[in-house]
Amino acid sequence: MTEILHARDLHKSYKMGKSRLEVLKGLELCVNAGEFVAITGASGSGKSTLLHILGGLDTPDAGYVEFDGRRIDKFGAGQLNRFRNKMVGFVFQFYHLLDELNVLDNVVLPTMASVGSLGWPARRKKARKRAVELLEQFGLGERIKHKPYQLSGGERQRAAIARSLMNEPRLLFADEPTGNLDSETGNGILEILGSLNHSGQSIVMVTHDERMAERAGRVICLADGRIVG
Ligand code: ADP
Ligand code: MG
Repeated sequence: MTEILHARDLHKSYKMGKSRLEVLKGLELCVNAGEFVAITGASGSGKSTLLHILGGLDTPDAGYVEFDGRRIDKFGAGQLNRFRNKMVGFVFQFYHLLDELNVLDNVVLPTMASVGSLGWPARRKKARKRAVELLEQFGLGERIKHKPYQLSGGERQRAAIARSLMNEPRLLFADEPTGNLDSETGNGILEILGSLNHSGQSIVMVTHDERMAERAGRVICLADGRIVG
């Protein structure tokens, strides 16, 4: 099996007044290509902190993350931007869609960011075509001109998943993707993630709901700053 991600001896703490809150205490984690890993753990156990570090959105105090065998802490600024924009995708609990943009423009945005304003005119048509295809795949074909605030929670999350897939990430991170949804709508989101994984998408999903974790191929738990079980 090909290893895609390897976190080695991660430490992270936050300074709280005079004391230090140790969140990650020598965490080790390995994810293989094609896996769907669910990380469970109590609220406040450090799941979001871990996901942000794995995806290059935050840095550990010690230890490092290897992606495709390369340490992301050794990346230069340009490489790190490319990594965040192209190698990984993120889906968040509260969607993080931009309310000023319609659904189509939200989904197209990561590609616009990656090609820059000079390259954009040549790529625009293709990117919009891919965005529409993704939105249709997730049942939002009739919603592409809607603003996010005009959508239901489940629709917003499906739009956010479409956005996360625009640049064909090698690894998709989802942080409590069903946390703001009722259980039926949440199940629909999990079905989408499950079928994406079936088509080969590698996924690391964080959830505090153990039932939600059942769809994943591997369930691990974050407790006391490390992976247990
Ligand atoms: P989870 O996602 O598992 O609920 P988090 O990773 O968000 O947990 O947070 C882990 C712990 O670290 C929590 O106790 C939280 O309050 C604390 N924490 C997170 N971010 C910060 C920060 N920027 N400054 C101080 N404490 C933080
Ligand atoms: Mg969290």
